[in-house]
Amino acid sequence: MLVVLSKGISLRDKELVRVYLQDRGFSMREQQFGEDAIIGATGKGTADIRELSLLPGVERVAATSKPYELASRETKPEDTIVTVGPVKIGGSRISIIAGPCAVESREQILETAALVRESGAVMLRGGAYKPRTSPYAFQGLGMQGLEYMKAAGEANGMPIVTEVVSPELAVQMRDLTDMFQIGARNMQNFELLKKVGSLGKPVLLKRGSSATIEEWLLSAEYLLASGTRDVVLCERGIRTFETYTRNTLDISAIPVVKDLSHLPVIVDPSHAVGIRAKVSPAGLAAIAAGADGLTVEVHPRPDEALSDGPQSLYPEQFERLMRDIEALAPVVGKELLRTPRPYQGPGVPERAVARGAGSERIAFSGESGAFAEQALMRAFGEEAPQLHVASFAAVFDAVLDGSAAAGVVPVENSLTGSIHENYDLFLRYPDIAIVGELKLRIVHCLIACEGASIDSIRMVRSHNQGFEQCREFLDQHLWRHEPYNNTATAVASILREDGTDLTTIAAIAGEAAARAHGLKVLKTGIETNPSNYTRFVIISRRNGGDRAPVPPSLGSQPPTKASLVFSVPDTPGSLFACLQILSEKGINLSKLESRPIQGQPWRYLFYVDVSLPQTEGIFEAVMEALKTKTEDFRFLGAYRASL
Ligand code: PEP
Ligand code: MN
Repeated sequence: MLVVLSKGISLRDKELVRVYLQDRGFSMREQQFGEDAIIGATGKGTADIRELSLLPGVERVAATSKPYELASRETKPEDTIVTVGPVKIGGSRISIIAGPCAVESREQILETAALVRESGAVMLRGGAYKPRTSPYAFQGLGMQGLEYMKAAGEANGMPIVTEVVSPELAVQMRDLTDMFQIGARNMQNFELLKKVGSLGKPVLLKRGSSATIEEWLLSAEYLLASGTRDVVLCERGIRTFETYTRNTLDISAIPVVKDLSHLPVIVDPSHAVGIRAKVSPAGLAAIAAGADGLTVEVHPRPDEALSDGPQSLYPEQFERLMRDIEALAPVVGKELLRTPRPYQGPGVPERAVARGAGSERIAFSGESGAFAEQALMRAFGEEAPQLHVASFAAVFDAVLDGSAAAGVVPVENSLTGSIHENYDLFLRYPDIAIVGELKLRIVHCLIACEGASIDSIRMVRSHNQGFEQCREFLDQHLWRHEPYNNTATAVASILREDGTDLTTIAAIAGEAAARAHGLKVLKTGIETNPSNYTRFVIISRRNGGDRAPVPPSLGSQPPTKASLVFSVPDTPGSLFACLQILSEKGINLSKLESRPIQGQPWRYLFYVDVSLPQTEGIFEAVMEALKTKTEDFRFLGAYRASL
């Protein structure tokens, strides 16, 4: 049982709570958990929870049904997000850790770090102290190895995670590592857990190869109870009767643990399967099952590796895996985390210097729970200060007048096509540019009040896009449709209603909107096709210098894509002439759409997305050439493409 104390509890009241618990047979331990001071009461005691929660200075009492309390989701319903330097693990992001099994030399770790970073890993792994089954196998380079690893991490802008094997070493390693790893063999080394937990640093806790989920969570409890808040769980395969693979990856542990605990869960497919060719499929399966990330062994020359060569990926295999994860991420409603790295190549625009998340407000149209809010949080982080406005035009206004540093607007849906209103706004706001994009999977729910059912509904509210994307479901019901500016506003409107029977009104929006407004989901997944994605762009003021943040997830990566709008003279071959310029320079066209020009019947503007050539100067020359063949030419921005 956990007794959460009020912030300003007096010493006297705290003593009263202690005496109360002591008299009823509990043993107690006081600790800080995040912002809260908590008394953990264990033992065979019994207490009237209602009476206890009424004692002065008691904020609430959490009676957990599990033997672990701090690790339990009953105690803390929201996901814990673990921060390791610029990297966040948990929530809606997928964070990939990669590196060799062991640090073998300064050159080897530097080379591997640069390779995995290039492919998109955000943290570097590597063992300096290797707990090997055989005493004759390579035991690691020790502190020297850790120093090499720290240097490799710093050179590539990656925090490091490394295994600690004894309480004494934990103290020596503290200032050199960003995150401690507790290996499978040490999961129940309780003295080690207590020492490492007390150092307060983030910890990656591997599951023991014969440990039950409950034992694993109890080990996490040791770490949390000793002082750290930042624990990431890592499933790495368990012993079964199967001998084909090194261990058996317990995929089902991922959803089970996500339910039982608020801690992030990542997967180590390398040690789970132990066979190089099986690592990527197992890693992808883990992401599909809800893992918050992976830790993967990669070696520049696996055949020469001093440990675990047969399960280490070649750099090309890792790069392929990263691309597959990026494509899979939106399917499970997540985004692959990218962090800024020290990039010094050609073609990086001034503004692409990553800035701290949330130093200024980011605007979106709608209220809490809107899909644009989810896109915003994915790009800028959950903590980024938000500015909610009432329309897409208001997002552009807010960015232009500086009341927001950036904005997030949808431009295209995979089922219903372009959101023309926003394309038209780009023409009306020439000082606004696109600086990033991201794709969000859209799952629509039918949302209503407590007491409502599908049969009681008479009217449904949503954004027009919501109606269009759920056409087949709506066609089965004779409901009146009421359009709203956005889906979350449609949900909120139900609560603002008076005089109408609330059980007759429903809204179509994402689950987050139901949660944000305390309403219930009557049916989920009502979109006509589950492959329903919306592409959002991040907009910012042109030449904004200071006021043009690039989201941390896009970091200082060079742009790979550009968006243009132009019109062409009303003569034969004029569009062809433009496309020919692109084709001759080998520039790939990923979108070409025509839109009527307002006020000029039967004249059209072309919306064009192209991939950016990586050689400096080519794109600039292409733009100059295009200007000579077009009438109205507008460059909307260059940014990093999302898959
Ligand atoms: C490792 O990650 O290097 C390792 C030894 O893993 P495990 O503890 O899961 O065997
Ligand atoms: Mn290994």
